[in-house]
Amino acid sequence: MTAAKRTAKATRESLHRIFTIPEAPNSTLGRVEQQISHNLMGFLGDHIVATEKPLTDIEKDFAQAKIPETPSFVSDHMHHLLDKLVSQSVHTSSPSFIGHMTSALPYFILPLSKLMVGLNQNLVKVETSKAFTPLERQVLGMMHNLVYQHHDDFYQQWMHSAQHSLGAFCSGGTIANLTALWVARNNLLKAEGAFKGVAVEGLFNALKHYGYDGLAVLVSKRGHYSLKKSADVLGIGQDNVIAIDTDECNKIDCQKLHNKCAELTTKNIKILSIVGVAGTTETGNVDPLNHMAEIAQQFQCHFHVDAAWGGATLFSNRYRSLLSGIEKADSVTIDAHKQMYVPMGAGVVLFKDPASVNAIEHHAEYILRKGAKDLGSHTLEGSRSGMAMLVYSSLHIISRPGYEMLINESIEKAQYFAQLIQQHENFELITAPELCLLTYRYVPQAVLQYLAKADQATQQKINLLLDKLTKFIQKRQRENGKSFVSRTRIEVGRYGGEKVSVFRVVLANPLTQKNILSEILAEQQALAKQAPQLLAKLAAMTAST
Ligand SMILES: *Cc1c(COP(=O)(O)O)cnc(C)c1O
Repeated sequence: MTAAKRTAKATRESLHRIFTIPEAPNSTLGRVEQQISHNLMGFLGDHIVATEKPLTDIEKDFAQAKIPETPSFVSDHMHHLLDKLVSQSVHTSSPSFIGHMTSALPYFILPLSKLMVGLNQNLVKVETSKAFTPLERQVLGMMHNLVYQHHDDFYQQWMHSAQHSLGAFCSGGTIANLTALWVARNNLLKAEGAFKGVAVEGLFNALKHYGYDGLAVLVSKRGHYSLKKSADVLGIGQDNVIAIDTDECNKIDCQKLHNKCAELTTKNIKILSIVGVAGTTETGNVDPLNHMAEIAQQFQCHFHVDAAWGGATLFSNRYRSLLSGIEKADSVTIDAHKQMYVPMGAGVVLFKDPASVNAIEHHAEYILRKGAKDLGSHTLEGSRSGMAMLVYSSLHIISRPGYEMLINESIEKAQYFAQLIQQHENFELITAPELCLLTYRYVPQAVLQYLAKADQATQQKINLLLDKLTKFIQKRQRENGKSFVSRTRIEVGRYGGEKVSVFRVVLANPLTQKNILSEILAEQQALAKQAPQLLAKLAAMTAST
């Protein structure tokens, strides 16, 4: 046999194997599988190494564009993954990584995900998903119920109706927001007389037909960038996502919102949607939704609430009222992969009116026939996995009171951390937590006292130095790999609305104990001392008078 023939034979044999015979439990893959099933946290702790390896070095491990010409043994490949990929991954579920919205996962998620992947159902059409389709519709019903709290009759009537949809499942908040605005756009610019609707004729004809000079989406300046992406895709244009100022609590200024709506209307710009944020990504605050709903009503426009992150607060009877008014929204975005402890790839958009999705209905001859119950006729995405199963299971296993406990604990932990920061002489709380998100920075006590009395020009100079210090500490902390807080820049009222750099903390990991929070402050204080030049400059500046 020639070498080429031998290789071909080996390849054929290994192909046969990978589709039929599972790895032995004592193989490398088998052992990894066992470890991650029995003790995921232990496995991650053991295999993710905290190094200061720069990204550009890691890129060298992923620099080969040639597709392999010889197959690898699974075990060899597993070693390769552990060495190059797992070791350099981010320990998102570590209790001391409190800077992101990517959550820790309950242990049952892992085996259930395996089952989901194993079944490999395609939710685009009933033909390839069968029981998963009604399951997803039920999950949408449950999430709709969480927001709108209709009577059971309502859900019995609409949940499984082919021509209706209580919402759409998708990969996350971005697609959910896009879907909401897509529905709003197509309902606003619907078919009328000889005009076949924006979906068929496009935006140019639609604006001509309705006699508008443009469309606008209004959201607070704390709105998520996915709205700009949506405006881009929908042909509305990023410039027409208009950012409205916020008050000192990072909530939209409704007077300014109202004025802007009036101004646009006189300019013959139609307001496509007002978007309220329930839990801003940077500060975690909730807009005054009731008031916004009134304004939307007055200007006859769609009212969307982006509760991608904060929506899970609705599980909490204690804190649900923080989102009061959300039930008046025409559509609501909630990410299950944020505060519902489901892995990434699970977002929903919910619609108050079950018929509103007809505006985005698509049919094809071979699938998605009219009158069929295929979910794909009302979703942006086509082929889609059975992620709804993980939400379904979490809702059953954790239950509403369980979620309430998780939410309450997160919010109360954030309140505790805020207190800790305020009591500490060398830290400044920048935004207090309304939900479980807060921002703060390191400021030596003397500097903080000086800042409070300084004029705005001096404040600006000091804040520039503090920005550098914040950046320095945050970077070092991340590189040390023990703990992680994120960093953003926000306008701060008490400093004349100037942007300052802050640490951003999201306290949604149930395993984050109070002592970890104290340790994080202690680490940051110690790291600050590693920037003696910055500290000296600050001291000099504040001692000069
Ligand atoms: C996270 C987030 C989004 C985007 O969601 P993805 O799941 O990342 O696409 C949108 N809006 C808000 C308020 C968010 O917090």
